[in-house]
Amino acid sequence: MTTIHCARCGQDRERQAFKPFGTELGQRIYDSICKGCWGEWLKTQQQLINHYGLIPYQPSAKEFLLRNMEQFLFEQGAPDSIA
Ligand SMILES: [Zn+2]
Repeated sequence: MTTIHCARCGQDRERQAFKPFGTELGQRIYDSICKGCWGEWLKTQQQLINHYGLIPYQPSAKEFLLRNMEQFLFEQGAPDSIA
């Protein structure tokens, strides 16, 4: 088990098994967000999808989820409302 210092919860916790996606942001998440916080985001993302009736592969929905994900993982505060 590899531990990382998580940017979100501020603790040394287990690293995710895989990079969530192949972008620079994916690398950043892999390097600085623990498995537990990533799991919390996945739950929140599902709630947002259900709440707003998003279709995740649509560009506008993708963009909305990415923005919320960055905010959720790296900043404080409530998720964005859809614009
Ligand atoms: Zn964490």
